[in-house]
Amino acid sequence: MAESRDLQSLDDEFSPDRIYCANCIHCKLVKHAVGSASQYQLRVRCDAGKWKKKLGEEKIHKYFTVVRRTLDSCDTYVPMGDVELFMKELRKNLPIRDELYSI
Ligand code: SF4
Repeated sequence: MAESRDLQSLDDEFSPDRIYCANCIHCKLVKHAVGSASQYQLRVRCDAGKWKKKLGEEKIHKYFTVVRRTLDSCDTYVPMGDVELFMKELRKNLPIRDELYSI
């Protein structure tokens, strides 16, 4: 229990030296159809093609993990505004798990 709290607080820490993909214009929210396609889950992708699996295919992440997508640097990062404020608001509104939505 204490360990997960520690991990949570690490996630919540804001570092002005990091790049947060969530605040980049290339970080796109997409709907991923599930089952009969009347339901979906939220995913995020980098439309600059920077997120890749080992074999080169595109890597897509679960939306609720988007605050963890941070980098030391990125040559195609295009910030969408005040990153600290944006991340604070995002953390408040982000689902805490991989939710299933109905169309
Ligand atoms: S362009 Fe770089 S900073 Fe922007 S979403 Fe892709 S990997 Fe993240």
